[in-house]
Amino acid sequence: MSESTQNAHHESMPNDLDPLWMPFTANKQFKSAPRMLVSAEGMHYTTSDNRKVLDATSGLWCVNCGHARKEITEAVSAQVGKLEYAPGFQIGHPASFEFAARLAALAPGDLDHVFFTNSGSEAADTALKIALAYHNITGNASRTRLIGREKGYHGVGFGGIAVGGIANNRKHFGTAFPGVDHLPHTYNIKQTAFTKGQPEWGGHLAEDLERIVALHDASTIAAVIVEPMSGSAGVILPPKGYLKRLREICDKHGILLIFDEVITGFGRLGESFAAERFGVVPDIMTVAKGLTNAAIPMGAVLVRKHIYDAFMSSSENAIELFHGYTYSGHPVACAAGQAALDIYINDGLFERAAELESYWIDAAFSLQDHSHVIDIRAMGLVGAIELEPMAGKPTVRAFDAFLKCFERGVLVRTTGDIIALSPPLIVEKNQIDQIFETIGDVLKKAA
Ligand code: PLP
Repeated sequence: MSESTQNAHHESMPNDLDPLWMPFTANKQFKSAPRMLVSAEGMHYTTSDNRKVLDATSGLWCVNCGHARKEITEAVSAQVGKLEYAPGFQIGHPASFEFAARLAALAPGDLDHVFFTNSGSEAADTALKIALAYHNITGNASRTRLIGREKGYHGVGFGGIAVGGIANNRKHFGTAFPGVDHLPHTYNIKQTAFTKGQPEWGGHLAEDLERIVALHDASTIAAVIVEPMSGSAGVILPPKGYLKRLREICDKHGILLIFDEVITGFGRLGESFAAERFGVVPDIMTVAKGLTNAAIPMGAVLVRKHIYDAFMSSSENAIELFHGYTYSGHPVACAAGQAALDIYINDGLFERAAELESYWIDAAFSLQDHSHVIDIRAMGLVGAIELEPMAGKPTVRAFDAFLKCFERGVLVRTTGDIIALSPPLIVEKNQIDQIFETIGDVLKKAA
């Protein structure tokens, strides 16, 4: 490294780490040994000590087109120069309408109407509010109960944590949202360990929705929200038949089905959306992350025609939904989203994820015999290596592997004792090899 490069990177290291309260981070631990990313391109980040790190996580499951895509940079710059902001309440700008139309065309079934948010959390809360309001305006005001699923993650808003099912995300925040129930999760590695793709076991767990309906009565239930594939809980793939059965039970009882596709949207499972991959169309779908390739924050809620039409049947001057964000449909985010969509389509990235799936799964399963590996799950371009927790020290084994992989130039993500992987859809086969060889090496050394 030349002296000037060294200096440039040194200068990008901040002097004072204390003022920033980092999200979902062990702040004290991080600040005692910071890991800093200063630039990115394609499949790689560059660290403050000028090392290239292969991104096996698409940032946080979001940079599906790869980093610093020129097309997105140019579209964003052009939009900032032309119309950097316009309000979206009672006035509009073309970019949000144009982007909504393209998303509606891409989405399955008649998910034809789009409400913009700024994040996945806001999309989840917006979806829940739309479901409640829909029943309210269609003469079913008693339908106020929301059903989530254990281990579910729907962001960090109060609605999202209420229907979510990860204890750490809920336990400190009271019970501000009563009237929520949860389906059981479908995680059971005794039954499903080392299944390639969707497990055979577990479809019957959808029947639990009938139990919940029997307990509360359908007339009190507004919606069921699930991630088609639980991402944050550690890549839990839906058992065969499970989502179809949820759809049937929701239809039978007039309950809206919401898919949270914040991770699964935009190619992660080898189709535009998990709804396409699993052949089940929800009534409401949330997206974020890959929506703009994460270059500008944005989320969205897509709703089926009959839901939108129900709201539009009110009088001419009425505001149909008292909900929205200052930045809903932000022009710069729409420009980033349009450019990301062009890349997905022009570069055939959803198809590419599908083509790479079997190579990806085989590479992941090459770690099957490593000590402490107790399960491997993989589909599309997403995967998890589940490790046996150290006695009395849960999460330490996986976090240690994360640190060692980072030192060796591969960024992975951990949740509990699970290493979760979701590379950009532009990943090459030799990079897939590098990801699993690095993890394998780290696990071997730690054994
Ligand atoms: N929903 C799901 C399924 C997610 O995985 C996430 C984030 O990981 C969210 C919602 C929250 O998104 P955000 O962090 O953009 O608020």
